[in-house]
Amino acid sequence: MIYHLDSENLTSKVFWLCNLRWFAVVGILLSTLITMLFLNLHINFLVLFLIAGFLFLSNIIYIFFLHPFLSKGDKSSLIKVRNSINIQIFSDFIFLTLLLHYSGGIENPFIIFYIFHMIISSILLSRKWTYIHTTIGILLFTSLALSEYLGIIPHYSINKYISSLIQNDPHYLFSALLIFIVTSYLVVYITSSLAARLRIVEQKLKAANSDLMEKDQIKNEYVIRVTHDIKGHIAAIKSNLEVVNKQLVAPVDSQNLTFIEKAYNRTQKLNEFIYDLLTLTNMRLNNKFDKQPFDILKVLTSVVNSNKLFADSKHISYTKEFNITNPQYSGIESSIEEVINNLVQNAIKYTPENGSVSLQASSDENEFTILVSDTGYGIPESDLPFIFDEFFRASNIKFSIKDGTGLGLSLVKAIVERHKGTISAESVVGEGSKFVVHLPHLSP
Ligand code: ADP
Repeated sequence: MIYHLDSENLTSKVFWLCNLRWFAVVGILLSTLITMLFLNLHINFLVLFLIAGFLFLSNIIYIFFLHPFLSKGDKSSLIKVRNSINIQIFSDFIFLTLLLHYSGGIENPFIIFYIFHMIISSILLSRKWTYIHTTIGILLFTSLALSEYLGIIPHYSINKYISSLIQNDPHYLFSALLIFIVTSYLVVYITSSLAARLRIVEQKLKAANSDLMEKDQIKNEYVIRVTHDIKGHIAAIKSNLEVVNKQLVAPVDSQNLTFIEKAYNRTQKLNEFIYDLLTLTNMRLNNKFDKQPFDILKVLTSVVNSNKLFADSKHISYTKEFNITNPQYSGIESSIEEVINNLVQNAIKYTPENGSVSLQASSDENEFTILVSDTGYGIPESDLPFIFDEFFRASNIKFSIKDGTGLGLSLVKAIVERHKGTISAESVVGEGSKFVVHLPHLSP
């Protein structure tokens, strides 16, 4: 089975070829300049500079021509991009042949540059086109060497001594051409086989990846269906427990009340867990992002107030510092509130009594920065890379603080990324943790 690069891939690789050509132009100019200034060679430098100039111009034309196809993935643009590569490699061969002709022909060690193009062709194109290009390169170089040898075109020798040795020696000419031809085909055979194998691996990986994404989608839809069903039942159990707990129908003795309270609290936790799982899965499944302008300072203040009781219950020193000039932000208000609330609740939850927690926020013309820091238990260094993973709980607390699902930070990260922001964490065990969120201003 033959696999080809797709249009998008091929277009990006053609730009790589164009970038290489800038290096070639600079290389020709520099080597010509160095030869002119430091080596006593008989070369028509003006012609070499002119060739470099034409190569430069040709590259500008190719880039200009290719730009319209940058993001197109259809078949006709793929054919156009392929044709463009054929033309580029062919014209590069012509430039190289001219360059060699005016700088010693077969005497010039830069004949190796034909082989570079053959390798590039094998990376970008099918085997058929690679062999066609290789044959064209070989034909051009052989015609050049033979035409100079037979006197059909002049030979511009760079070194009179070497020239008399090689240019007029048919054995040298024959063996040099033979080596060049054999080496070219051999190199092209090896590189095109390797490139073909790599392309097969790349295609298989792509297929596996899309298969995984499809399965992930099915899993997410399944989670949503199941959690949605469970949610209804949990709500019913919770409201019934609430009635018994508040003794609205009949009195309950204190022993039974303790069990009822426990069941009620567990149901409440389960409810929160289901809410987190549903929100996270919904975010993964759906790319909808209905942003609205809102006042971020109001959200920050509301989070501070709603967690005050929790902080007080643990005698935690709870401070805020807001340095915001323009509080207007465009995003999903409830989601941003959830982010800040989650971070602050975690900071209080994972800080022992009498510790401190602070919420800081600042803004500049590009973004809002929110920093939540605490003097709590901290997170072990080896756990830090995983704390945003679903269901992950750090090893230092997962057995001592049972109240947690490991979903909060995954949700926080998904929301921040949906807002094109970033979140990072720093922590030292026994000293505390710091979570920093950057939320850039989104264009309307
Ligand atoms: P959980 O429901 O367990 O709190 P999260 O996703 O919110 O889940 O957090 C994941 C884990 O990251 C927590 O279990 C905890 O180990 C660690 N963690 C989060 N915030 C803090 C913090 N401020 N201090 C110490 N550990 C934290």
